[in-house]
Amino acid sequence: MRTPLIAGNWKMNLGRPEQALDFVRAILGPLNKIKAVDRVLCPPFTALAAVAELLGPTEIGLGAQNMHWDPAGAQTGEISPAMLRELCQYVILGHSERRAAGGHFEKDVAIHRKVRAALEAGLTPILCVGENLKQNEAGETHEFVSGQARAALDGLSPDEVVGCVIAYEPIWAIGTGKAATPADANRVMGLTVRGTLADLVGEDVAGAVRILYGGSVTADNIASFMAMPEIDGALVGGASLKPDFVELVRRAVAAG
Ligand code: PEP
Repeated sequence: MRTPLIAGNWKMNLGRPEQALDFVRAILGPLNKIKAVDRVLCPPFTALAAVAELLGPTEIGLGAQNMHWDPAGAQTGEISPAMLRELCQYVILGHSERRAAGGHFEKDVAIHRKVRAALEAGLTPILCVGENLKQNEAGETHEFVSGQARAALDGLSPDEVVGCVIAYEPIWAIGTGKAATPADANRVMGLTVRGTLADLVGEDVAGAVRILYGGSVTADNIASFMAMPEIDGALVGGASLKPDFVELVRRAVAAG
C-alpha cells in the first residue's frame, strides 16, 4: 500500500517569515487533523526555518524547492543537502521551472546528482518529470518522460528508488488552469513512469514508489485524480497558497 501524499509548492511566494507563518497558522489545525495522507509544505528558503519551527510538533512535513548537490564550499547562492536536512525532510528536484531554458537551465545530469545527494543526506526527493505541449502533441511524451526518469534515477539501488517520490507534471498543465485528464495522467504515470522504474529496479520495487500528479490541481478536481489507481497524490502549486488547500487535502483522502 502506498500512502497518498499531497505537497504544496509555494514557489516564490510567502517568503517573508511572518507572511508564511500567518498562512500556516491559518491552515495548521485542520490540516494536522487530516490523517491517512502525508501532507508536505514547500515554502521558499527564506521561510523554511520559521515554518520548520511551527510544524515541529505536528505531523506535517516540510520541503524545500531546490538544492545544490555539493556538501559545502564555493557555490555562491546555493544551499546544501545537509543545510536543508537541519530544517526539512523533503526537497523538490527537477521542477520544470528549474529545467527551463530562460529559467535555470538545469540538465538531467545535475538533477541526477541532486537526487543522489538528497538521498545521501536523508532527504526525500520529489523528482519532477513532464513533457511540454509540443512534445505532447507530437506523441513524444513516453520517450521524453521515460528519459527524464531514467536519467535521474539510473544507477540508484532499489532502496534508494523507493526513497524517492516522483511527480509527473506535464508542463502545459502547470499554472494554466488546464489540467491533464485523470485518465491521461494515469496512463503516463503507470505505463511511462512506473514502467521505467520497473525497468530500472524491477516491478515490485516500482510498485512501492509514490507517483504524484501535478498541473492545475484544485479542490474541485483532486477527487478525479485520486480515483485513478496509479495516482498517489498531487504536487500542488497555485492552490496550495489558499486556505482552500485544506479542503483539497480532505477531498484527496475521501477519494483516495
Ligand atoms: C507546480 O508548481 O508544480 C504546479 C503543479 O503548479 P500549479 O498547481 O499551479 O499548476
